[in-house]
Formats: sequence, C-alpha cells, structure tokens
Amino acid sequence: MKTLLVCEVREGKLRESAYELLAFAEALGGEREVLLVGDEAQAPRFEGKLYLAPPSARGEYDPVRHRALVVEAVRRSGAERVVLVHSSYGWDLAPRVAAVLGATQVSDVVALAEGGFEVGCCNGKMRRVVTPRTRAAVITLQPGAFPYRGDRTRLPAIERIDAEEGPSAVSFLGYEAPTARGVDLGRAGVIVSAGRGVGKKENLEMVAALARALGGELGASRPVADAGWVEHGRQVGSTGQTVAPKVYVACGISGAIQHVAGMKGSEFVVAINKDREAPIGEIADVLAVGDLLQLVPAITARLAK
Ligand SMILES: Cc1cc2nc3c(=O)[nH]c(=O)nc-3n(C[C@H](O)[C@H](O)[C@H](O)COP(=O)(O)OP(=O)(O)OC[C@H]3O[C@@H](n4cnc5c(N)ncnc54)[C@H](O)[C@@H]3O)c2cc1C
Repeated sequence: MKTLLVCEVREGKLRESAYELLAFAEALGGEREVLLVGDEAQAPRFEGKLYLAPPSARGEYDPVRHRALVVEAVRRSGAERVVLVHSSYGWDLAPRVAAVLGATQVSDVVALAEGGFEVGCCNGKMRRVVTPRTRAAVITLQPGAFPYRGDRTRLPAIERIDAEEGPSAVSFLGYEAPTARGVDLGRAGVIVSAGRGVGKKENLEMVAALARALGGELGASRPVADAGWVEHGRQVGSTGQTVAPKVYVACGISGAIQHVAGMKGSEFVVAINKDREAPIGEIADVLAVGDLLQLVPAITARLAK
C-alpha cells in the first residue's frame, strides 16, 4: 500500500515534522512519496520522490489550493494513505482531503497497532485502536510520536505539480502566537519539572525550591497539571508548552513521548528517577538514579552553600 506524506512549511521554513512523517512511513512499511507546497530550497532531505508545488499567490496556506494539490499528488502517486502532522495545518487540511477522497480520517495517531492506529481517548488518559474500514485513509500524527533518526543527506527526485488557483472563500492573514496564560516557560533558561513521581502535592514545594535555587521556573508533566497541583500553564509537552531551555531537570518524569515532544529541544537534560530503565534516560544527558524525595532537597541544599 502506498503512502503520501504531506510536509508543512511555516513562515518560509520547512517544519521539522517532515522527518516525523518519514519515520512513520518507515514504521508502516510499503512505498512512500512526499508532497511539499513550497520552494525547492525548503525540500526535506530523503531518498525518494518529492512532488513539489509552488506556494499560492494568496499566501503560505490556502486550504482550497492545498487540498487540490494533495488530491493531484494522490492521483499521480496512486497513494491510498495520506499522512500529515496534527498541527494547525494538518487538522485543517486533513478533513478537507478526506472528504474529497471519501477516505476515513484518523486524527492524532500516537502509535501503530495491529491492523490499525493508536489514538488517545478519555482526555488523553487512555488509548484505543482505530482501524479504517475504507481502503483510503487520511491520517494525522501526534507531534513527537515518531522521532526520525535516519539519513538527511540525500536529495529527493523532484516532480513538479500544480493545480489551478480557483476562487477561495478564505484568505491567509498570518500566524498569531498564543498568549501564554500565567507563566511563559518558553523564555526560561532553566526549568525544573515535577512528574507523577513527586507522589503528592505537598512534595511539589521541594521541586519549586530547586527551580528557585537554579534561577529557573517550575514546570510539570500532564498528570501533575491534571491533578491541579500546578496551574495548566506550567505543563510541558505536546498538549502543554514547548520549551527549549539551557537546562531542563525532570524530577520523577518517565519520559512519555508527549512530554518529550515539548522539551526535546532543551540543551542539557538532567533526569532524576528511581527507575534506571525509565525512557527519559534515553534523552537525558545525566540520569541520577534515586529517590527524588532525598536527591532534590540534597541538591538544593548543596546549591545554597
Ligand atoms: C493525547 C495526549 C497528550 C498528552 N500530552 C501530554 C503533555 O503535554 N505533557 C505530558 O507530560 N504528558 C502528556 N500526556 C501524558 C503522557 O502520555 C504521560 O502519561 C505523562 O507524561 C506521564 O507523566 P509522568 O512522567 O509525570 O508520570 P509517569 O509516567 O507515571 O512517571 C512517573 C515517573 O516517576 C518515577 N518515580 C516515581 N517515584 C519516584 C521517586 N520517589 N523518585 C524518583 N522517581 C520516581 C517513576 O519511575 C516514573 O518513571 C499526553 C497523553 C496523551 C494521550
């Protein structure tokens, strides 16, 4: 079964998520081709075929034109699956394409499962497997769920495509950054985050004290924010803030993909976890194995000296 991967350009730059699409296609198996609406200079580096279409005269994103281009690339490639990332681009474009193709749409896929795709449910607390009943499917991927570790040196073989620029009822005005509610972790140089491993709300203060001692901000994983132990603005991850501090300290955080998606741009990661096999260890520069209830106050006390 053939797959068409639809890359995204934002503010003139190819989004890194293009490589996550390639990682997904690799996990899925079968043939894959790629579509980019943009310039040749923005093309991702991979071995294979790239359909390249010029951007719209009406701005970077024109849903009518982008839909027509995806449909044209599907026609040329014979792809039965179209895959985008679950960004504002993907969640706007995917249903438009699915409606035209008469395809099943599966949104926000976090993993592959036997015969289908795993997606979150119950407000992200559980997962279920969705199996398309139609042959054609349009899929969006949760950002960060499919990290790419492959080659980035090859140049794709380019096939230029275009579609008529018909009338459109919408026009692209630009991008607007969301106003951060409460704390803006995006500006912090140091973030010390608390995970479910802190055990109870009362223990959060010791993590906050370490953050203060390092001149940084307190962050949290989703269970800690969901429990109401911190305000939601401090949640790091795919449904929280994306951060890239110089130092990120993860206290009692396992390293689930949705958390890592929000902090993997950090320059230096320290993880404190009693489980030496915790997945956070795979991305941490330093993994301190031990009980955070003992280690965190001890580090804070040492810093105070
Ligand atoms: C659609 C969707 C979106 C999501 N978005 C986000 C998001 O934005 N951000 C986010 O964080 N999660 C998000 N999640 C949830 C994510 O999948 C994980 O469930 C969550 O990140 C786990 O949080 P945690 O690491 O704090 O808890 P756990 O996974 O329970 O890990 C706790 C860790 O603490 C360690 N530990 C326990 N006690 C101690 C101790 N005394 N000392 C040291 N270590 C200890 C354990 O070994 C374990 O590794 C999302 C999930 C879905 C499905």
